[in-house]
Amino acid sequence: MTTPVVNVLPTDISAYRAGNTGIDYVHRFDSGTPGPVVTVNALTHGNELCGAYAVKRLFEHDIRPARGTLILSFANVAAYERFDPANPVASRFVDEDFNRLWAPEVLGGGRTSQELVRARAYLPVVQESDYLLDIHSMQSLSPPVMLCGTAPRGRVLARRVGVPVDIVADAGHAAGLRMRDHGEFGEADGRRTALLVECGQHWLQPTVGIAIETTFRFLLATGAIDEAAAAPHLGPPPPSQRVVEVSGPVTIKSDDFHFVEDYQGLEIIADAGTVIGHDGDDPVTTPYDDCVLIMPSKRLRRGQTAVRFGRLVE
Ligand SMILES: [Zn+2]
Repeated sequence: MTTPVVNVLPTDISAYRAGNTGIDYVHRFDSGTPGPVVTVNALTHGNELCGAYAVKRLFEHDIRPARGTLILSFANVAAYERFDPANPVASRFVDEDFNRLWAPEVLGGGRTSQELVRARAYLPVVQESDYLLDIHSMQSLSPPVMLCGTAPRGRVLARRVGVPVDIVADAGHAAGLRMRDHGEFGEADGRRTALLVECGQHWLQPTVGIAIETTFRFLLATGAIDEAAAAPHLGPPPPSQRVVEVSGPVTIKSDDFHFVEDYQGLEIIADAGTVIGHDGDDPVTTPYDDCVLIMPSKRLRRGQTAVRFGRLVE
């Protein structure tokens, strides 16, 4: 395997360890006026560095809520601290994927790991948040995407945020529930809303810019901050967005999965039945015309998601 290019290195966040919540790396700012609890979280995956820069930017500019409560957090710092530019993939997690632990039976079960300990400590933040932005990045060179879940209110919020261009309405992975799908976030008629933004390739500089832009537009869209506070951090007005509805994940069944091309994501495959890969002896084909490939994985292991299929709907 070739070593990926690493143009972004971790930024020092040690100053933010001691929060005011009793949970390391979780800070809470109460405006004193009514309003939603809005959370921006970075480092759900330790090697996805862009979110650390975005949340640090909020601290450095003393961004405070105009109404309601603002929570700023760094989730899997234990993994982040292990980042090694010579092996940047390794620090995604310490023991297991923090973003597959959010089913009640996993959180409440008897198993433990570094990530489960952290997830259990972080759970009150997830449960309290009216709006949550979870900042991620990707292995591939895919354009950025906003994952908004299947409930209509996620799509509405993603449109209000306005970036990135591509909104993906999806239900997650067979390998385990994501934080953005936990509890009321995942319920069709719930009130709380979570977004997961994939800002671009993990270690490229533009990915950091996308994370910062998305974060400020999210705070603006949720009413946590006003235009004047956001404006210095925003780029030009974004182009209009489009929505891809995910029909389902391709979950890997064998120990030998490979794609027929080096897909990066958001490719549109014209014809139904086109072979895009092989899972053991079985061809993997697109289920319908104009099928969009969402986030093809480079971690092609049994039980994991290889890629997701979607349709452009708006
Ligand atoms: Zn991630």
